[in-house]
Amino acid sequence: MISLSNSIICPKLVWIGDKFQEGISIRIDSDGNIAEIGKGICGTDKVIWSNEALIPGFVNTHSHAFHRHLRGRSEIGDESGDTFWRWRDNMYGLVDEIDWETMKRLCKSTFQEMINAGITTVGEFHYVHHGEKRFDLDSAVIEAAREAGIRMCLLTTLYQRAGFDTPTPHPIQKKRFISDYDEFLSHVRSLKALENETISIGVAAHSARAVPFEKITSLWEWANDERVPFHIHLEEQPKECVDCQKYLGTKETPMDLILKSIVPNQLFTGVHNTYTSEENMSKLAKLGANVSICPCTEGYLGDGIPKISTKTHLSFGTDCNNRICFLEEIRWAAFTQHVKHNSRNVAGLSASRLMHYATIGGARSLNLEDKVGSFELGKAFDFVSFSLNSPLLDGLQSDELIDGIVFSTGNREISKVGVQGKLLVDSK
Ligand SMILES: [Zn+2]
Repeated sequence: MISLSNSIICPKLVWIGDKFQEGISIRIDSDGNIAEIGKGICGTDKVIWSNEALIPGFVNTHSHAFHRHLRGRSEIGDESGDTFWRWRDNMYGLVDEIDWETMKRLCKSTFQEMINAGITTVGEFHYVHHGEKRFDLDSAVIEAAREAGIRMCLLTTLYQRAGFDTPTPHPIQKKRFISDYDEFLSHVRSLKALENETISIGVAAHSARAVPFEKITSLWEWANDERVPFHIHLEEQPKECVDCQKYLGTKETPMDLILKSIVPNQLFTGVHNTYTSEENMSKLAKLGANVSICPCTEGYLGDGIPKISTKTHLSFGTDCNNRICFLEEIRWAAFTQHVKHNSRNVAGLSASRLMHYATIGGARSLNLEDKVGSFELGKAFDFVSFSLNSPLLDGLQSDELIDGIVFSTGNREISKVGVQGKLLVDSK
């Protein structure tokens, strides 16, 4: 790992203001933050990257890092492996015997894969809390992120029940996930002491299925008062909406009820919102709330395609991490909409718009807009760089390059990745 502190980075192209610009240099201070950015920066410690196109690091707003270790067990195409619920049972098998060391090892290798994919910040939606002691596994995830060098917002997650009508929980849910609300909140307060330059703490309610509505409301109000991000899985599967309606005896869905009881704002992120109505998507957008979609996982699990519009405050997540390639997430966000609408112009998802959602959109969802998502004075120097020597990008002009990167490249074209001024990947 090489520190770029106190250097002046001079790449061929830098992504600023939703376009590539030539001749821009970036001076990094001793803490890995941007001290100066622009043309004609003078100094002796220049690092010349004459064949590199620099983009702010990707911000992954939804991950369950340990799920990556279910890779190879998709059961796609198998008659018995047809549903999300079967996949969930496999996942429960993975955490049955988990302890602190194992959780750290599983998460660390996933975070390292993310860094190789240009992801410099992850929102880790973490609900497997209890190993040998109550909540001891949360610190394993933090240690994994620290050792891997990735920036993380740990979205520590409240999980309280097995379903709307509170059936007897699965033994794994009881052993690893479930906690009392007051116990959970006191744990979150203690986690805040572990925040530092690259680790921040947010909260999540697992889902309307796993957390009663009054506790979703209480946790949201706490998060809003404390100004920390709040995430929740919403309407990913039709079953969630049907179970909710059956339980209530009305036609209301989880999103209807949430919009009735709270006023989401920029600190709120709905994850998936696959079956959320256009009307409710529009309400979320007007209130400034974010939506995190995970196109590769949604395809992997057979979820569906959300109703996004030009107004949606969008970001992307790698969720189950079966394949960690943010460029695939980005372009499949567009491709799924194209296929659904039989059009190549849906919700304004151009390459530069998609890149905006992958960077500043993600930062917004994790309440890290002041720190990451763009190259600006005072922000951390988190970046992903593409080699212009790559045969895949050969012959593209600078105004065509973002289109080429978004729709044609993969992890192999990523040449450098850095977090907080530290160069973590340098392959070319
Ligand atoms: Zn998820």
